Amino acid sequence: MTLPEPSPATQPLLGATEIRRLAEEIGVRPTKTLGQNFVIDGNTIRRIVAAANLDPAETVLEVGPGLGSLTLGLLDAAARVVAVEIDPVLAAKLPSTVAAFRPELAGNLDVVLSDAMRVRELPCEPTALVANLPYNVAVPVVLNLLEHFPSLKHGLVMVQDEVADRMVAGPGSKTYGVPSVKGAWYSKMRKAGVIGMNVFWPAPKISSGLVAFTRHEPPVTRASREEVFAVIDAAFAQRRKTLRAALAGWAGGAAAAESYLRQAGVDPSARGEVIDVAAYARIAEAKIGFTA
Ligand code: SAM
Repeated sequence: MTLPEPSPATQPLLGATEIRRLAEEIGVRPTKTLGQNFVIDGNTIRRIVAAANLDPAETVLEVGPGLGSLTLGLLDAAARVVAVEIDPVLAAKLPSTVAAFRPELAGNLDVVLSDAMRVRELPCEPTALVANLPYNVAVPVVLNLLEHFPSLKHGLVMVQDEVADRMVAGPGSKTYGVPSVKGAWYSKMRKAGVIGMNVFWPAPKISSGLVAFTRHEPPVTRASREEVFAVIDAAFAQRRKTLRAALAGWAGGAAAAESYLRQAGVDPSARGEVIDVAAYARIAEAKIGFTA
């Protein structure tokens, strides 16, 4: 009788002992600058992987594999993993960790030594982004990847909980800001859970949040993404001001700003925190129409 393949839930994942041993082997002392908080709890990894809703045929992009905690869980659930790591010592160690813990899956991993804020080329076309992101650069990393890798159709990222709330916020909410509007240009984002501090080594001082996203088409507009993002940046640079005042610099005067806002069907006395990404696109388009 052939025994059934072990389910991913029964495969060993990295716990506190393994993580500390691996770190010691390569002399890694986690740094705050690179947001190095490693997951030491297999159940958290299983939860992240389950929330990512991966198809077994998918290629997953993982940013910041670190010592490999999440990488092992992703290899169990997907066909391929491409892992982008900025720290050369961690990047060099990862293949041997995978070879030790998942020898049969070691060929399914590509490691790319690179800064995920700047990476433009990968050895394959990932369809999902799943990552425990370095907290200080989480939003720019997600936006960079969504911009440069259109093959990414969905994903699940772990970020600081308050950043998660900002990423998923809708117009009118206190936490609605640049990450919410720019994120909404590319995708529908939703909160997929909160993770406590004790599942990391070293433990951060605040909780983490899971954000799931599904890519959608950006709003239909003649304005480019850069032009729309310039309006968003200007509106939130002075978020307490009315849009008429906040956009004066961008428009070339308050009267011009008022005119573009009216053409876009937006109340000039409204604030940037109450309008959605489609309205930002209409404002950018109004300026183009005027100058064309
Ligand atoms: N995935 C591992 C885990 O869950 O245990 C580690 C996550 S740790 C929060 C973030 C990882 O991202 C670290 O390995 C760090 O070296 C890496 N990192 C930091 N900045 C990066 C960047 N700009 N590009 C790629 N990796 C980065």
